[in-house]
Amino acid sequence: MLKERIDDFYRKEDKDRERDYFYASEVTDCKRKIYFKVKGADKEKLDPQTNRKFERGDLIHQRLVSALYSVGVVTASEVEMPNQSLFHGRADAIVSINDENYVVEIKSASPYSFKTLDGPKESWRKQLQLYLHHFDIDQGIILVECKGTQKLKEFRVERDDEVVEELEEEFEKLLEMIQKDVVPKKPDKDDWKFDKCKYCLYEEACEEAKNTLKGFTGA
Ligand code: SF4
Repeated sequence: MLKERIDDFYRKEDKDRERDYFYASEVTDCKRKIYFKVKGADKEKLDPQTNRKFERGDLIHQRLVSALYSVGVVTASEVEMPNQSLFHGRADAIVSINDENYVVEIKSASPYSFKTLDGPKESWRKQLQLYLHHFDIDQGIILVECKGTQKLKEFRVERDDEVVEELEEEFEKLLEMIQKDVVPKKPDKDDWKFDKCKYCLYEEACEEAKNTLKGFTGA
């Protein structure tokens, strides 16, 4: 009775838009998937449960940013990167502690991954490096909340512009491939856990691209 109604409410459609930039949050994603996203390829719909999980992540962000405001350290929140950049994104907060500025990136993790987390994930670290570089701030903090217990962990990260240079080089090449309609290869098995493909909404497009000459680069 209610479950079906709520599921319908959460069966939101999110449309991809053609773009000439990338999101800071997708820098460690499969390049082939980003290609399909940017090209607006047909994709499966996100199921209501996954949409509810995303919403829960958003609520954790809002709650922790509000707590940071309450303790009086926030200088700005939801700070957009400059739009002319190859990367777009929004840092969760910039805080000031003992006259030092930090970019804060808030994440949530399942109880299992929280327990074993002894440093920031590569995707979180790279995303934060983009913000540090673009906001010209030398350090950041990745604040992680466990979805099951609400425990917190935090990791301090120093700015490293070399990471940003490498990302810019990597994504300029991807942009060129997108503009020339060349589908990137599937990621190398050393760099990609292929069990992640079962959560990819573009699996069908990925399979089909194997059989077309245009754009097929040998996946
Ligand atoms: S199915 Fe896997 S390899 Fe293919 S686009 Fe999706 S994530 Fe990439």
